[in-house]
Amino acid sequence: MSQSRPRRRTASLPSPAWGWQNSAACLGEDLSLFFGPEGERQAERELRERRAKRLCAGCPVRTSCLDHAVSRPEKYGTWGGLNEEERTSERRRRMRRANAA
Ligand code: SF4
Repeated sequence: MSQSRPRRRTASLPSPAWGWQNSAACLGEDLSLFFGPEGERQAERELRERRAKRLCAGCPVRTSCLDHAVSRPEKYGTWGGLNEEERTSERRRRMRRANAA
C-alpha cells in the first residue's frame, strides 16, 4: 500500500505576455496621445483619440493589445483602437458571446 503524499501547490499567477509590445506601432510615441489629461475638453479628446486610433489601425499587434486591455481592467486610455467606453462595450459583447456558447 502506497502512502499518499500531500500535493505540492505549484500554481502561480500567469506572467503577462508583453512580448507583443515590442512590435507596437506606438512604441516611442508620446503617451499623452493615448491618455488624455484630466479635464480634457470633449473636442480635444475627440481629436486626440482620432489620431491615436489612426496609429492603432495600422498597428501589427492591435488584436493582442485589444485582447489585453479588454481582459484586464485597463480603465483609461486608447488601447487596440478603442477608447474606454468602446472597450466597455466590447467587454460586454465578449461576455455575452461567451455566455451564449
Ligand atoms: S493597437 Fe494602438 S495602443 Fe495598442 S500597441 Fe498598437 S498602436 Fe499601441
